[in-house]
Amino acid sequence: MGRVRRDPIVLNRMSVISHVRALRPKELTVVKHESPSLPKCPFCQGNEDVTPPATLVVKYGDSGLSFLKDDGDYRIRDWLVRIFPNKYPIFSKDGFNGYGHHEVVVEHPQHDVNPYNMTLGHLIVVLTATLHRIKELHNDPAVKHVYLFKNFGGGGGASITHSHTQLTATSIVLPSVYEEIRYSKLFNSKFRSCPYCELIRKEVRSPRLVYANKHFIVVTSYAPRNSHEVWILPLNHSPRPLDISKEEVTSLADALLKLMRAYNKCLGNIDFNLWLHMSPKADEYNEFYHWHIEVLPATVLWGGLEKGGNVYVVTTSPEDSARELRDCLKWVTVPN
Ligand SMILES: [Zn+2]
Ligand SMILES: [Zn+2]
Ligand SMILES: [Zn+2]
Repeated sequence: MGRVRRDPIVLNRMSVISHVRALRPKELTVVKHESPSLPKCPFCQGNEDVTPPATLVVKYGDSGLSFLKDDGDYRIRDWLVRIFPNKYPIFSKDGFNGYGHHEVVVEHPQHDVNPYNMTLGHLIVVLTATLHRIKELHNDPAVKHVYLFKNFGGGGGASITHSHTQLTATSIVLPSVYEEIRYSKLFNSKFRSCPYCELIRKEVRSPRLVYANKHFIVVTSYAPRNSHEVWILPLNHSPRPLDISKEEVTSLADALLKLMRAYNKCLGNIDFNLWLHMSPKADEYNEFYHWHIEVLPATVLWGGLEKGGNVYVVTTSPEDSARELRDCLKWVTVPN
């Protein structure tokens, strides 16, 4: 029998931490199938013409970073980060499939640069560009909720290897965020405080702490869906990251890259998903919610208990995962 834990915020989600499950005999394993590379990667520099016009292109200008947009058929070259509408959108502005935007953030002009080998300076540019675009999408009067997610590798659901992030901005509120807000409101009415702020106060002294800097903590999830699931929590209580300072962006880039390097050292080139939960656009939610990032490495495939029962079996406890990640962190350096 493993140890059963309930997620501290999403109360209908549970984990069973069972070391015994790691010992069971195995006849079947997942084999990674890689499809042949595309003859022309649509996200590489020089191939901008195969994607729609960019809604944001970030380049170095004479006085620092410049934020531009493609105009018609003309494509801006020599970019650092490029954001454009997804050619195969889940949501679109015609409203047929639900009103929304669906955009792709290409994080680097070179094909093989990804979060495992990116420099700190470049990730700061990526985050600055992405937050700039999130703010623009948030300001669309028809948009209620902006969501950022990253699928890295086939096990993370990505279809293109060139590292990228996706943004959706929709007239609907994401059910997972709605659930977190619902609990945050309940917690607030009982204890007059925010459950994420309380979590930070506890986790900063817990064995689940992986890393902390001036503005963020990185902790393994108390009731993980996969081993080494990590949450990145801003110390400052805020519903959205729209007005964070340059110093906070640098802190976030530092926390993210340290985590990525630690993953890489502990788990190899592991596929993963990452997402950013922020409050929808509604004053009624503002004071309750605390934006954050969740990172889920694709350490195992989920079975029926996970998919149908919302009960996740992990063979490494979050305390052991955090210790492994902290140990790996001692050996990594992040280039500037
Ligand atoms: Zn590419
Ligand atoms: Zn809070
Ligand atoms: Zn969340």
